[in-house]
Amino acid sequence: MRALEALRQPLEDGEVVISRARGTTRYPARLQLVLAANPCPCAHPAGDAHCQCPPLARRRYLGRLSGPLMDRVDLQVRLAPVTAAQLMADDGGAEPSTVVAGRVLQARAAAAARWAVLGRHSNAEVPGPHLRQRPWRLSGQVTRPLEDSLNTGLLSARGYDRVLRLAWTIADLDGRDRPDAGDVSEALSLRTGQAL
Ligand SMILES: [Zn+2]
Repeated sequence: MRALEALRQPLEDGEVVISRARGTTRYPARLQLVLAANPCPCAHPAGDAHCQCPPLARRRYLGRLSGPLMDRVDLQVRLAPVTAAQLMADDGGAEPSTVVAGRVLQARAAAAARWAVLGRHSNAEVPGPHLRQRPWRLSGQVTRPLEDSLNTGLLSARGYDRVLRLAWTIADLDGRDRPDAGDVSEALSLRTGQAL
C-alpha cells in the first residue's frame, strides 16, 4: 500500500523527486496507472447472496485505497460478472481494434492541434487554470453538474479539473469541437463510478 501512496506525486507531476543528503534528483515518470480490485474481500459484488462478509470488512477492504490516491484516478468502471451466455457468445459484432485505434489517433491529433498554442500535446497535460479560463472555459450551463458536485463535496478541486480534461477527451473521440453537457455528465459519471 505504501508503494501505491508513493505514486501520488508522479501521477500529479509526471516526475519522481528523490532527496538525499547530497542533493535532489528528478526523474521523468509519466505513467498510466491501472488499478483493479474486487468489490469485496470475497470477490462477490454488493448485494450478492454469496457474500457473507460483515459491512465493516467490506469497508475496510475498499478503504485500503486511500482517498488522496483515488482522487488521482480519472476513470472508475464497475464490471458486472460475466454470465455463461456472454462467455459462449460470438463477439463477431464487436468493433475491431484497428477502428478504435484510428479514432484514438484522430482524437489525439485534435487535442495536439488545439493545445499547440500552450506547448501541450494532450488534454492530460493542460494545467487546470487554462481549462477554466477563456477561450477554453465551458459555459456555466455545461459545467453545472461539476459545480454542484464540488459544492456537495463529491468532487475535489483537483477532481474538477480532471473531469474537465476527461470531458475534452470524450468530445475529441466523438469529433466535437468542445465538450457539451452530455460529455461533462459522462465524464463525471466515469470519474465517480456512478451510472448516468
Ligand atoms: Zn463479501
